Amino acid sequence: MNENDTHPSNVIRHLYVHFPFCARICPYCAFYKTRGNATEVARFCEAIVSEARRVAKKFPLTVETIFCGGGTPTALSTVQLKNLLERFREIFDLSALREWSIEANPGSVSVKKAVTLRESGINRISLGVQTWDNQLLKLLGREHDAAQAEESFHIFRSAGFSNISVDLMFALPGQRERQWRDSLQKTIALQPEHISTYCLTYEEDTEFLARFQQGEFAVNDETETRFLELAMTTLETAGYEQYEISNYARRGFRSEHNRAYWRGADYIGIGPSAFSTRGLERWQNVANHNEYARRLFANKSPVASIEKLTPAMKRTEHIALGLRTREGIGVHTIGQNQAERLISDGLLSRQANRFALTRAGKLLADSVAEELL
Ligand code: SF4
Repeated sequence: MNENDTHPSNVIRHLYVHFPFCARICPYCAFYKTRGNATEVARFCEAIVSEARRVAKKFPLTVETIFCGGGTPTALSTVQLKNLLERFREIFDLSALREWSIEANPGSVSVKKAVTLRESGINRISLGVQTWDNQLLKLLGREHDAAQAEESFHIFRSAGFSNISVDLMFALPGQRERQWRDSLQKTIALQPEHISTYCLTYEEDTEFLARFQQGEFAVNDETETRFLELAMTTLETAGYEQYEISNYARRGFRSEHNRAYWRGADYIGIGPSAFSTRGLERWQNVANHNEYARRLFANKSPVASIEKLTPAMKRTEHIALGLRTREGIGVHTIGQNQAERLISDGLLSRQANRFALTRAGKLLADSVAEELL
């Protein structure tokens, strides 16, 4: 951990790249995404290279981790991806690069694309499987089925990727415990290095939220807790370490990029809707790919909003994010009385100079964080 990289005068080591295009829009998704046409995708590719040049000039960047997310980065063609990644290699100082992840949608993976990504320097794949159940995949509006997801996994392995994360979701509408257990077991059988498990949330401006509000879907805290516990038990038994509430890894395969977020490190985000944080300043690019390109082609900044963070806001984020991690938070971050109460309730434990959630605490992480904030 490098505590110093939160200081504004320091070098920024983490880069996020947002690809806004998806072949199909999933009804639960709240990220900025769109189904662009060929002209829009080509404009975006030019615009993001232009933004990359701007930020490389403006900030002291020595990139150690890059995360290409979206949207669906793999929705771009092999040639577009190859060109973009080459441009990034020219523009940024990647001499210290350790981890370069890309999100891949099983619906847009090919042997050629996988080989190109590997040859371009990507060394970590985050494969959006979500579930291995075809009915649930349909409900989620995913563009792929389970067989395609499995094939994609093998394509990446054969292309030489030795660090693959499989992303799963749980507490899906109508999902039974058996289906969740099967999804976990199927994932383990593939032996990925990393597994992420996210509880479905009903986000603003999504079709799923509307269906939830109409009573078609329901949330059941007990089911969510049971599913989380099942993931913890099943994955830990299979040799995965839960290093953050939603993230499990084999030794040596924790996501360095995500850990940087969780410890509050500075990062730069490029692409439409991308956030950046440096010291006490956080800003967001315009969440519209056409406006984003228009601004950059006019040599203008794509930043749409800037927020000044206070030390109190930083502290809140630090506790909320840090508590979710295996390392926890420093003992001086929270009051002694609060800590003692949570320890006597069996929700928090102390190791040397850190507090971390116990197993029972992880199941109640949101309530514990709320109590401390
Ligand atoms: S593929 Fe991913 S980013 Fe695109 S709509 Fe679905 S969940 Fe959202």
